Amino acid sequence: MTEPVLEVENLSVRYGRVEAVRDVSFSVAEGSLVTLVGANGAGKSTIINAVSGIVRPHKGRVRFRGADITRAPAHKLVARGLVQVPEGRQILASLTVAENLAMGGWHRGRGAARTIDEMYQRFGVLAERRDLPAGTLSGGEQQMLAIARALVAEPRLLLLDEPSMGLAPLVVNEVFSVVEQIRATGTTVVLVEQNARRALRAADHGYVLRTGEVVRSGPAAELLADDDVVRAYLGTA
Ligand code: ATP
Repeated sequence: MTEPVLEVENLSVRYGRVEAVRDVSFSVAEGSLVTLVGANGAGKSTIINAVSGIVRPHKGRVRFRGADITRAPAHKLVARGLVQVPEGRQILASLTVAENLAMGGWHRGRGAARTIDEMYQRFGVLAERRDLPAGTLSGGEQQMLAIARALVAEPRLLLLDEPSMGLAPLVVNEVFSVVEQIRATGTTVVLVEQNARRALRAADHGYVLRTGEVVRSGPAAELLADDDVVRAYLGTA
């Protein structure tokens, strides 16, 4: 069996005296789509921020492509292929679409230009608006821009934090279909979502979080078919 792209072992994160994440372990196989689902405040963002070097874990270990990255800073991890699309998109509203995309490839020099062209082909709306300030785009378009900007970094592992948040249902469909396409091109994906049912439908494997702990995990289809999981964690929607 090949080594997982990402292995998280016994991760704990504290904010002051609050233990936001407790003893969380999971692994992500090459080419797979893994989702972390759970209600608001369950610790999902904290986990991916710890993986991507944005917050420091209190305990535990993170390995990426076989190397210990537990204390590695975020900017070094991007250059190594671990790239996050943060919650709330975090695009730079006053910069143009083109400038936002260029930022995704800062560490790649001229090599990024070809990938940016590919992004314009893939996301027609970004090509049409390339010279407009990113803040003039709709919420869904801004999410596409945030995803495209991350892809310009040529990730080996893409971490997506709540990409469907705050979007209209039709746009949510588009975002999920983009996520599925990314995975279909061979990029390994970790998807954090409150929209658990939807995320599990797209994923190979799922981890259900509650108050900082993994309460269930398994193949996504099995979690979806498990009445206890559905009743306790996924609601009736
Ligand atoms: P959300 O969907 O709201 O992002 P989440 O599952 O991603 O939820 P986290 O944002 O990781 O959850 O938050 C986990 C817990 O840690 C919550 O109780 C939250 O209030 C707390 N928390 C998050 N960030 C901080 C911080 N910077 N300082 C103190 N507490 C924090």
